[in-house]
Amino acid sequence: MSRVGKIAVIGAGIMGSGIAQVCAQAGFETNIYDKYSTALQKVSDNIKRTLDLLVGNDLVQANEVDNILQRIHTTPTLNKATEDVDFVIEAIVEDISKKRSLFAELDNLCRKDTVLATNTSSFSISEVASATKRQERVVGMHWWNPPYLMPLIEIVKGSRTSEQTLETTRSLAMNLGKKPVVCKDSPGFLGVRLQAALVIEAIKILEEGLADVEDIDLAVRMSLGFRLPIIGPLQAVDLGGLDTFFYAYDYLREKLGQSYKPPDLLGDKVRKGDLGIKTRKGFYEYTEASAASLVERRDRWLMRRAKELQVES
Ligand code: NAD
Repeated sequence: MSRVGKIAVIGAGIMGSGIAQVCAQAGFETNIYDKYSTALQKVSDNIKRTLDLLVGNDLVQANEVDNILQRIHTTPTLNKATEDVDFVIEAIVEDISKKRSLFAELDNLCRKDTVLATNTSSFSISEVASATKRQERVVGMHWWNPPYLMPLIEIVKGSRTSEQTLETTRSLAMNLGKKPVVCKDSPGFLGVRLQAALVIEAIKILEEGLADVEDIDLAVRMSLGFRLPIIGPLQAVDLGGLDTFFYAYDYLREKLGQSYKPPDLLGDKVRKGDLGIKTRKGFYEYTEASAASLVERRDRWLMRRAKELQVES
C-alpha cells in the first residue's frame, strides 16, 4: 500500500477522536470504532465542538464543517470499521496486552496490504507488531495532544517495518498537514525522551530547593522555551559554539556528577574543530549565506515574540 484512500481509527478517546477529525479535515473518508458505545456516541459532538473552535479562529472554513463531519463514519463493529481500509491508526488504552490482542484481530480482518499503525506513547512497536503476521506493515505513528493543533507526528520504525510502510506513513502524515519525523523503535521515541530530560531536571532543581516552582517554569519559558519553536537544541549548540557547551557541561560533570558528562560525540567534534556556525560546521554544515540567514530567521522570530510579550504583559 503506498497511496492511502480510506482510514480506520480504533479507539474514540482523546486521541482517536482528534486523529479522526484531522483525517477527515484532510479529505479522507474515516471510520472510527470504539469498544464502548458511550465513547463512540460522543465522537460527533466532540469533533463538532472542536471544529467550531477552529472556525472561530480562522483555521477551518465554516462552510467546510458539514463536509468534514460527513467524512467521519462511526462504526459499531471492528469488522465494519476495517472493511476495505488502506490504513489503520490504533489509539486505544495504553495497555500492551490489549494492543497486542487488537493487532492480532486487525491482522485477520484487514486486507493484506493494509498498514497497521499504533499511537502508543511508550510500548515497543516491534512487540506490538509481533502479534501479527505482517510485521513489515506495522509502524508507530505517535501523535501529540491535541492532534488537531500539534504539528508533529513521530513515525517509529519497528525492527521489521519496511521502507515502503515508512514511506506510506510519512506521505500520509504530510497529506494530513503534519510534520513527520522518523526514529528507530526505542523507549520514549524522540519527543517523550527529550521532554523527560527537561522535566526530570526541572523537578530535581525544585527538589534541591534551588528555586521555586514559578521561577523554574519562567526560566524555561523566557529562555530556551522562548526560542525553541524556531531553533532546535542541536542548532542552538551550533549557534552558541560546541566548545562553549562542551566546557560548560564538563564543569557540570565535575561539580554535579557523571550523568552530566558531555557526550563523546560533542567532545569528538570539538577536538576536530567543528565548533558550529563559527567554523561553518557543527551538527549541521553552513555556508556564509546559510549561517547569516539562520541568525536572521532566529532574530526575526524573537522580535515577533518580543512584541507579543509586550502586548501580553
Ligand atoms: P483514552 O482513554 O482517552 O481513549 C482510549 C479509548 O480506547 C477509550 O475510548 C476506550 O473505550 C477505547 N478502547 C479501549 N480498549 C479498546 C479496544 N480493545 N478496542 C477499541 N477501543 C478500545 O486514551 P487516549 O489519551 O486517547 O490515548 C490513546 C492512545 O494514544 C494511548 O496509547 C496513549 O498512550 C496514546 N497517546 C496519548 C496521548 C495523550 O496525551 N492522551 C498523546 C499521545 C499518544
